[in-house]
Amino acid sequence: MIKENVQKLLASLPENIDLVAATKQRNIPEILEAIQSGIKIIGENYVKEAEEKYAFIGQRVLWHLIGHVQRNKAKRAVKIFDMIETLDSIELASILDKESELIKKVMPALIQVNIAQESKKSGISPESVEPFIEQVLKFKHIKIMGLMTMGPQLDDAQKLRPFFKQAKAIFDRIKDLYGNSLEWKYLSMGMSDSYKIGLEEGANIIRLGTAIFGPRTH
Ligand SMILES: *Cc1c(COP(=O)(O)O)cnc(C)c1O
Repeated sequence: MIKENVQKLLASLPENIDLVAATKQRNIPEILEAIQSGIKIIGENYVKEAEEKYAFIGQRVLWHLIGHVQRNKAKRAVKIFDMIETLDSIELASILDKESELIKKVMPALIQVNIAQESKKSGISPESVEPFIEQVLKFKHIKIMGLMTMGPQLDDAQKLRPFFKQAKAIFDRIKDLYGNSLEWKYLSMGMSDSYKIGLEEGANIIRLGTAIFGPRTH
């Protein structure tokens, strides 16, 4: 099942799209099957869960952190992750910067945008993205490379389209503003129920769990 899902997905995706397998609650054999079928990037929500899996899987894939980063986990996060997709505060940026410097790493990161301005979701509000970038630019051990957004949970994925359009507009505006002074190239939006819309609206990273592994059981 997993193998078939991954192979179908990879065959259907345009070449410049990075498929992140969202592996929360999935076990090692499931993840290994996905990797053997062509998955190159693993997305984990929690540092501890990622560490346990990393111990088995290691660097044969890239690791993206796609969940909210607790401050006290930042030190461990910079050790194993190749990209933090959920940079959502200056405080976190500052901690990630310090911890990355200590291990002589420059941490690639995406800014998480709270595109629908939901009070319960983390992320930078759309109008704060530019000032946020200005502040993060002073951290030399973080490399901001784009945006990630979740969008609100809606009964119909089509309703996400205007939010995805808005995220793409912010992405493009930043690209215009900064030109080549930023290595600004990733827009991560779209999950199993919404990735097609994400792609239509300009995403180049999608994060899929259910579409690869089937429904989560808990
Ligand atoms: C779980 C998760 C996904 C994948 O969700 P599915 O609906 O299973 O595809 C994507 N992004 C984030 C941040 C997640 O937590």
